Amino acid sequence: MEECELCGKKISDVYVVEIDGVELGVCAGCARGKKVIRTNAKKPEDKSIIVRRNTPKEEAELIENFGEAIRNAREGMELSLPVLAEMLNEKESHLRHIEQQKTMPSAELTKKLEKFLNIKLTVESKEETGFSTKSKADRASLGEFIKPKG
Ligand SMILES: [Zn+2]
Repeated sequence: MEECELCGKKISDVYVVEIDGVELGVCAGCARGKKVIRTNAKKPEDKSIIVRRNTPKEEAELIENFGEAIRNAREGMELSLPVLAEMLNEKESHLRHIEQQKTMPSAELTKKLEKFLNIKLTVESKEETGFSTKSKADRASLGEFIKPKG
């Protein structure tokens, strides 16, 4: 059991807050309103909240040619399939099937591949709000203002 560094209360959930650039382990009460850097507090278990597992956006969508992207990146790094398989702790046959797009990598493996090969395999679902932010330079060319004499 630790003690709150501010009020001395015995605490099991320590909130590490930053106060004047100093990190202090404090209780939840003292952490309130402070900048919490980290905590070992368990997430509040509210049994009334039912976690919906079938949310549509749970899994990121893979790009169309993910297999090709993986192979290109791998070959760019001059890695053979067995070597990459070993590095990622995956079966070579599994990776081959992924490169051939016969199978989809798991979300976890997708992340590993992205990180390891430094590529993007998922489609970012950008929220289209219909609010265009493109800063197209709509400069009217000078020629439009100078009418040719004729
Ligand atoms: Zn406290």
